Amino acid sequence: PGAAGYVGRFAPSPTGLLHAGSLVAALASWLDARAHGGRWLVRIEDVDTPRCVPGADREILRQLATCGLLPDGDPIWQSARSNLYQSALDQLWNEGQAYPCACSRKEIDEALAALGVQHERHGERVYPGTCRGGLRGRAARAWRVRTDAAGGTDTLIDWHDRRLGAQRQNVSAEVGDFVLRRADGLWAYQLAVVVDDAAQGVTHVVRGEDLADNTPRQIHLQRLLDLPTPAYLHTPLVLAADGQKLSKQNGAEPLDLADPLAALRRAGESLGLPPLPAQAALADWLAAAVAAWRRLHP
Ligand code: GLU
Repeated sequence: PGAAGYVGRFAPSPTGLLHAGSLVAALASWLDARAHGGRWLVRIEDVDTPRCVPGADREILRQLATCGLLPDGDPIWQSARSNLYQSALDQLWNEGQAYPCACSRKEIDEALAALGVQHERHGERVYPGTCRGGLRGRAARAWRVRTDAAGGTDTLIDWHDRRLGAQRQNVSAEVGDFVLRRADGLWAYQLAVVVDDAAQGVTHVVRGEDLADNTPRQIHLQRLLDLPTPAYLHTPLVLAADGQKLSKQNGAEPLDLADPLAALRRAGESLGLPPLPAQAALADWLAAAVAAWRRLHP
């Protein structure tokens, strides 16, 4: 407690309402902020506009309020912040760290095949760097960031997760030059999240473990943009009954908030909180949960 500078956040994508999994991330980030005597902000990550559901943003804020999770400040919407993302891209471009890319998915596959490499990871291709040296007359589609350090050496990111411990990723070999601005003109999550975490002064990121894999890319961007790296804690994933990851994509049920305390209790269980006294009032349960969280994640 007493970390006066602590700023945490919950950053939902309004592609649907909160479900059991996203409530876990919301609750964990709120508990961590409260346990540190810090501020907790909400950021609506609506950059991928075609996937956003109209009205889901307001409904998510209502769902959070029903659970007693109230942001310490006005929420922000990423869709209104293109200027900031453009400035960051300009900065990287001016420093030779970002470049336009003309490659279609098919061309990337062909280039990889020609190199004889099977560079694929989670269905994502590791970009072979075709456009690093220029577009050679082709039209720009997307913008990418370089992941090779000066002298062409790999970017090895060592980072610490407060729950998972020491982590390491070779971003060059495992991800490759990744997209900052997509061919359809939309800003990529990686850039928007890094710019906004810094702009909002976020010191602690607490989010679901499904996002842990993105952290090295974000740290790489923070270093290139000369931004501070927050502390990270990735929470356990809530699995569906069939053992699959619960997500909006596989049709996770929206939360039934007729009984918010029951939903919070289930979220608390996923976070490994000990059973808390069966309090009648939401506020009492939340206060007990903050104390329990503080012991788990000092
Ligand atoms: N908007 C992302 C999501 O809903 C979370 C981003 C983050 O916490 O960094 O999955």
